[in-house]
Amino acid sequence: MLTIAVCELSDPDKLTLAARQGEIDGVVDFEARVELAKQLFGDKPRALFTRVRAALQAAAGDLVRCGYCEDSCADEVEHVWPKSFFPGRTFDHSNYLFVCGICNPAKNDRFSVRHEGNWVDLPAQRKTLGFVVPPSFDARFIDPLAEAPLELLWLDILEKTFMVVPIFDPGTLEHDRAEFTIDTLRLNRECLVEARRNAYTGFRDRIHRYVDCKLNGEAQSLLDQRLFELRRTPHQTVRMEMRRQIDIIDQPHPNIANALEVFD
Ligand SMILES: [Zn+2]
Repeated sequence: MLTIAVCELSDPDKLTLAARQGEIDGVVDFEARVELAKQLFGDKPRALFTRVRAALQAAAGDLVRCGYCEDSCADEVEHVWPKSFFPGRTFDHSNYLFVCGICNPAKNDRFSVRHEGNWVDLPAQRKTLGFVVPPSFDARFIDPLAEAPLELLWLDILEKTFMVVPIFDPGTLEHDRAEFTIDTLRLNRECLVEARRNAYTGFRDRIHRYVDCKLNGEAQSLLDQRLFELRRTPHQTVRMEMRRQIDIIDQPHPNIANALEVFD
């Protein structure tokens, strides 16, 4: 899971979104605000959201992979901050992530925030207290549109389990956040682990070949094509982790130090 750029929209489209958002924000009662958010998003302007989807597709990269699992094709607009708890972010495009049809329902409305030293599970709070405004904006879930997930998450290449694990020790807030995100998105489901394992083998072989070709004086245009292909392969977290862990994992090539552009 990597940082994903916020999608780029035209100024008129941003104004249209802001106007819709303004309708929601103008409602005083929180429950009514949530209901209106749901209703207006359900009736969202089709032409505008065709453009939003195109912008999200561009932000997702060449292969349009899911912003969470990096495996499946992304085709759903996900609110990272659920509109049922944060209606103020319903028409906020910096809250839109293009994700797949597996990750979107897996995450759904799962969300917790930090309040007075505890994590408040918002769906559970809704069940017990009804519609109350979330007590903070200090999220437990890692927002890939606003943070660098790899500051909290680590992909195990060294032991070759290809599981995503928390970097920080149990008992820390960073560990809690990583664990919650991994669990919510089921980032260690078997098919993803196996896909990362395959991706690692593929990256390693391609990088090895690239370094050989570079050392043998292959034309720059062909080398550039090889770099392009490395950057458009699914599971880019694997490639980023190979860079981060280059001093502790098996080297993809003895002369990798002369070809670090493979990790750019
Ligand atoms: Zn996904």
